[in-house]
Amino acid sequence: MICLTGDLHHMSLNTGNQQHSYISEMKTAILFLRLLEVYDIKMNYFITGKSFEEEWSDVKQIVFNPLIEVGGHNYDAFENEFFHRVWNKLTKNYNGPKWYQRNDTLKTIEIIKEKTGRDIKVWRNHMYMHGENTEEVLFDAGIQICSDGVKKASNEPSLHKTGIYNFPINIIPDHEHLIHAERTPQWIEKWQKRYNWSDDFGKESYYVETWANLVLEQLKDREAKGLVSNVIIHPITMYLCDNFKQVKRILEYISTCETVHMSELVKAKS
Ligand SMILES: [Zn+2]
Ligand SMILES: [Zn+2]
Repeated sequence: MICLTGDLHHMSLNTGNQQHSYISEMKTAILFLRLLEVYDIKMNYFITGKSFEEEWSDVKQIVFNPLIEVGGHNYDAFENEFFHRVWNKLTKNYNGPKWYQRNDTLKTIEIIKEKTGRDIKVWRNHMYMHGENTEEVLFDAGIQICSDGVKKASNEPSLHKTGIYNFPINIIPDHEHLIHAERTPQWIEKWQKRYNWSDDFGKESYYVETWANLVLEQLKDREAKGLVSNVIIHPITMYLCDNFKQVKRILEYISTCETVHMSELVKAKS
């Protein structure tokens, strides 16, 4: 069983990927949705609240499609970097104080409800930023599953004492393991020196074809064992890598498996 997910950011965030794209991130998500339709695959799009405010004419082409389940991805994706960095230095919590995080969560939920008429059940923090108050704040706001972080051994949503489920990604992520756009080999080398970054799948970045092979291997392995895969694939990243060429191989395989929206995993459990 495969739960395919991807994060979508408002254009004004001006990420490195966005700077390298001729079309907006939301437009890449619309193109990606056309592929999901071809292969009949369900997907979770975690979308920033600001996208609903600023790019509704594009967002509305996505969020009512039955193949898509919408999740929250913060209101502005920590746009005020300075504030979050300072708070992280002081308290080791990048998300900010509890009241701030609550405000961010409720603002996101409200704009999505206002625009779509729906309550969201799932959430992922931008850059997987997970703080000490995350579970409490999200659960109080009605969120059932939070999908932050990357963990090979994350085999199913695990119940946190607050009542929310945590379900980290369990397949090698795309963006931070791919050489593409701003992430040139030189850029990656500098970044590695500065942060000594690595996740459960190591520190390597790959060209898209090699990365796609890894994803396929891991998906097939988990399917053979009857385990749920939680995959992250950003439409803009796939667009920038090779205009969706390699990801089509992945989608073709996923189309042979059962796909679920993340919130269905909790329904299946209770
Ligand atoms: Zn992301
Ligand atoms: Zn993000």
